[in-house]
Amino acid sequence: MEKTPIKCSFCGRDKKEVSILIAGINGHICNFCIEQAHGIVAEEGKEKITKDPKKLNLLKPAEIKAHLDEHVIGQDMAKKILSVAVYNHFKRVSQTQITSIDEVEIEKSNIVMVGETGTGKTLLARSIAKILNVPFCIADATVLTEAGYVGEDVESILTRLLQSADYDVAAAERGIVFIDEVDKIARKSDNPSITRDVSGEGVQQALLKLLEGAQVNVPPQGGRKHPEQKMVSINTKNILFICGGAFDGIDKKIARRLQTQVIGYNIANDKEEIDKNNYLQYVSPQDLRSFGLIPELIGRLPVVAYLEPLDRAALRRILTEPKNAIIKQYIKLFDMDGIKLSFDKSALEMITDKAIEFKLGARGLRSICETIMTDAMFEAPTSNEKELKISNRYVVDKLKKSNFNKLKVA
Ligand code: ADP
Repeated sequence: MEKTPIKCSFCGRDKKEVSILIAGINGHICNFCIEQAHGIVAEEGKEKITKDPKKLNLLKPAEIKAHLDEHVIGQDMAKKILSVAVYNHFKRVSQTQITSIDEVEIEKSNIVMVGETGTGKTLLARSIAKILNVPFCIADATVLTEAGYVGEDVESILTRLLQSADYDVAAAERGIVFIDEVDKIARKSDNPSITRDVSGEGVQQALLKLLEGAQVNVPPQGGRKHPEQKMVSINTKNILFICGGAFDGIDKKIARRLQTQVIGYNIANDKEEIDKNNYLQYVSPQDLRSFGLIPELIGRLPVVAYLEPLDRAALRRILTEPKNAIIKQYIKLFDMDGIKLSFDKSALEMITDKAIEFKLGARGLRSICETIMTDAMFEAPTSNEKELKISNRYVVDKLKKSNFNKLKVA
């Protein structure tokens, strides 16, 4: 009996015409049809996530915070403030039609986060975008200048967002932008416009337009290198902007404000309540203004969150607890080579101590671990050992052998 030739059950292509033909229960599918089907699935998924605002992950604040807890250690107050702000923001996005009926318009709640470098500002913003499944980009305020000067125009921020949304304008218009180092564009002096302040106040003015919601023409390829490119119009009304900065020295301004308030008002009660070790927790829009942000910009950043400095206990937890913790990453890397990697408790304590000793904060944990693990990562894939235990001694030896001591911050 003649055998029926094997064909793709979807397009009918013969086995010889395709490179892969996968067999199912009573049919086959070729590589062309797989690719096409994959395209359809991806496109459908994207539509579901981004095109219809009602289908966004509208998680409740407590749910958002619970997700953040998986990735970020501590920073409870910032997490709470962010969760509420983001929840309200997306409520606002999904209720645009309703608001026109009852005339109550929920205003946009852009956020500014104040906290020392390396305390988790970027990580928080990134984690939020991940949870909500919306396009996200990070922009550095220090490279921005007013249009016409050397540096990047503020529109470049939206180019990046558009790129992260795969050029889907509707999705980008509901994305989240994290503007880092916003403190670096503070006005240099209290006396505006003696000379042109191109990288400070000028940029704040330019940012204002994006933050308050405007129709902005964006060069899709970015920069000024492609003058011929066709601009894409993006409405920033529903884009959530989260700004972050260390605001070095703002604690002194907060302290001064609190002192004057204490003298002016209820002396006995207020004085007792102020925690002098952490003035940042009292940060208010007024302090951002004394620091050099213009009032209009502060007005567009109604939610102010602060981040706690990370203490030893927090650093120790950061090593092992977050979903994507550094130590978990090493264990996975070694596991892929079939090696069971483990760390003694004392080794983890030692790594934490070194991060504190070198004043490197959370970012330092990674560089310390890299220094310790480099030799092992080099040797392990070609060695026959199936297990590696990192002890306290191992940590000390590796750090001694490296130039790590020279990294110590004075
Ligand atoms: P910032 O933006 O405040 O300067 P980042 O968010 O970039 O700091 O943090 C730097 C690194 O330190 C991150 O990659 C993260 O691994 C780690 N980190 C900082 N703070 C935390 C935290 N609270 N919880 C978990 N990891 C943290």
